[in-house]
Amino acid sequence: MASFDVIVLGLGAMGSATAYQLARRGKRVLGLEQYALGHDQGSSHGHTRVIRQAYYEHPDYVPLLRRAYDLWYDLEQHTGHHLLTECGCLNIGVPNGELIAGVRASVRAHNLPAELLLASEIRRRFPPFRVDDDMVGIIENRAGFLYVEECVRTFCEAAAALGAELHPEEGVTHWEPEGHGVRVTTTRGTYHADRLVITAGPWATRWLNEMGVPLTVMRQTLQWFRPQEATPFRRDQFPVYLAEVPGGPVYGIPMIDPRGHKAARHYGAPELTDPDQVDRNPHEDDVEPIRAFFRRHLPGANGECTAQQVCLYTMTPDRHFVLDRHPHHPQVAVAAGFSGHGFKFAPVVGEILADLAEFGETTQPIAMFRANRFHAEGFTPKTWLPG
Ligand SMILES: Cc1cc2nc3c(=O)[nH]c(=O)nc-3n(C[C@H](O)[C@H](O)[C@H](O)COP(=O)(O)OP(=O)(O)OC[C@H]3O[C@@H](n4cnc5c(N)ncnc54)[C@H](O)[C@@H]3O)c2cc1C
Repeated sequence: MASFDVIVLGLGAMGSATAYQLARRGKRVLGLEQYALGHDQGSSHGHTRVIRQAYYEHPDYVPLLRRAYDLWYDLEQHTGHHLLTECGCLNIGVPNGELIAGVRASVRAHNLPAELLLASEIRRRFPPFRVDDDMVGIIENRAGFLYVEECVRTFCEAAAALGAELHPEEGVTHWEPEGHGVRVTTTRGTYHADRLVITAGPWATRWLNEMGVPLTVMRQTLQWFRPQEATPFRRDQFPVYLAEVPGGPVYGIPMIDPRGHKAARHYGAPELTDPDQVDRNPHEDDVEPIRAFFRRHLPGANGECTAQQVCLYTMTPDRHFVLDRHPHHPQVAVAAGFSGHGFKFAPVVGEILADLAEFGETTQPIAMFRANRFHAEGFTPKTWLPG
């Protein structure tokens, strides 16, 4: 039976980043992926992902984000692939809403450079936006976007170049403890390793159930629209944006290719338990929430819908990540439940998982991501789900 230092289960964003980190450290790594590398059935496809630091979700993410930026740029330098583009992010909402209050909390706690804009200033600086008088904006210049498929491909290629063995189209069917290590069974064979890292994305439900982590899967559609005029949506003029509006949060990315301006809603769709039950076909009515946002706040973007893609969020009840060692099997580390905002963290998650596999601990602050927090008394699920 082939034996490795570490087996990584799942080679999407987090698994490919982990395989790369471990390979850099000289570990004998086996990465197992049920589909082709860079497939479009999980959570890491759709051309781009937003990256930002003024993190409304919680100020404790900011140190991890700083490390993630460093690691993304290191990866670019190491491989010569362009992955991250900084073009600024405009956060829009009412001053006491979750988005604006959360961004301000992170800015204050970590002294981040950001600028508060009144509605009139938003309209002047970013003419495509129509914002209500009671809305404000916070612009964060270091934010931008990542090329998602290119990032995963780069992690995989760089890991393989450093000696990691990556097996696409080989699904894991079972794992069990074996001595101080693990025995992993796949559709093609059985392997032994000292450590196992589980990064199964939407399929993590299956592996984390016994740990009491209540994960669900949310179907999201990405869509691209051809604006009436292209120039005002170019990335030198138009930022990434995140808007908290009555119909539910919406975000968008500047027009960087002929498909047009990419926009999607954040949350607001039904939650399921089985990723294989999700409807993978985009539909005409998936576009309606975005068109409603455009009609009211971004009319120039409301052109032909040129492309749509379905992608999956893996949700925890509090919308924070799970990043921990297995409570009963310390030779196993898990990363899951990225709740629609994990991609930007991939390199630092990879570093943390490599630390957990190599040392059993990490110096990165991950206390808020414990797997057992859902057992705590008084836990109330977060409800930023528009009605
Ligand atoms: C529409 C959409 C928009 C998003 N926007 C942003 C954004 O702007 N910014 C941001 O930071 N984040 C964003 N996210 C979230 C981010 O993309 C995810 O958090 C991240 O991609 C999750 O990575 P992952 O490795 O956990 O999952 P995945 O990339 O899905 O990887 C899991 C992998 O495990 C494999 N696997 C599962 N089970 C097995 C098995 N038994 N055997 C072998 N392989 C297996 C799967 O096939 C898959 O390849 C978005 C997500 C979506 C869906």
